[in-house]
Amino acid sequence: MPAVVALSPPAAEDWQAQARAARMTTAELLARVGLTEADFPAGVIADPQFPVSVPPHFLAQIRKGDPADPLLLQVLARGEEAWPQPGRLTDPLEEADYRAAPGLLRKYRSRALLIASGACAVHCRYCFRRHYDYGSTMLTRSGEAEALALIAGDAAIDEVILSGGDPLSLSDARLAALIDAIAAIGHVTTLRIHSRTLVAIPDRVTPALIDLLSGTRLNVVIVIHSNHAGEISGDVAAAMHRLRGAGVTLLNQSVLLAGVNDAADTLAAHSRRLFAAGVLPYYLHLTDPVDGAAHFDVDEPRARAIEMELRAMLPGYLVPRLVREVPGKTSKTPLWALPEG
Ligand code: SF4
Repeated sequence: MPAVVALSPPAAEDWQAQARAARMTTAELLARVGLTEADFPAGVIADPQFPVSVPPHFLAQIRKGDPADPLLLQVLARGEEAWPQPGRLTDPLEEADYRAAPGLLRKYRSRALLIASGACAVHCRYCFRRHYDYGSTMLTRSGEAEALALIAGDAAIDEVILSGGDPLSLSDARLAALIDAIAAIGHVTTLRIHSRTLVAIPDRVTPALIDLLSGTRLNVVIVIHSNHAGEISGDVAAAMHRLRGAGVTLLNQSVLLAGVNDAADTLAAHSRRLFAAGVLPYYLHLTDPVDGAAHFDVDEPRARAIEMELRAMLPGYLVPRLVREVPGKTSKTPLWALPEG
């Protein structure tokens, strides 16, 4: 892995202002990237139910004047989102069946997942939780005790996962309280944080966050959610190096998205950029059948073909595991384990 680089940290409070500046209409987004509706086929662009949210840093990585830019396609609301999509679901992973307490999902034996926040810095149009009822099902201060008591009462749980929404939408003070409470449970050894904020607002890696993550007794793993090399800017790479300097293990998971990263050379460039930033590729997910995101699907035969090409291009440690999440399974399902359709 590349050497850790010492870099000066950003202002602590700046990331919250960037998160507040992210909300915009579709028309505003188009104007900021130098496009109009006329640059797209008729009916493709629409104002959505799921609001548009694009932080300034992510916005700055989008190529201006390019309607096919792979970063733009991930955040631009399209008319297809509202079209009838037979067979698509609002809860494609049947997560309602795994709620063990308010804000606590228990899918796997040794891991417990906390829906720590309902907020996200960036709104990804392919999101499988785009219909999730965060209002009644995320972790609240009052429900937290029940969720933590369940984890404390089950010695089989050695890893707690913070998910959302995006757990790094929480303030450093709130995160610190939550992590301290988890660290007080003796049989929990590992804290895993899933976050897309880090590629959308790299300034989220504040000195306070670094202190927090380096000070806990837990092994800390952060899985960043990045889909394209264009997201790994110099600022994002610098933030990753600060996290590595704090002893955090960094992994990435991507979603295979039509028009964004469904080509072996695109994925290979992404893996190399991640590695240079100190992040190992971990999972490449097929899309889940969520209502409103069918236009991002890549079918299984094509995904397998892309993976084969990728294996020929990269060392094995840079090839993410191609998986599909199948409701009811005790782990993610590698595509090689599914019958070829
Ligand atoms: S950051 Fe994650 S949870 Fe939030 S909109 Fe994007 S994919 Fe969904």
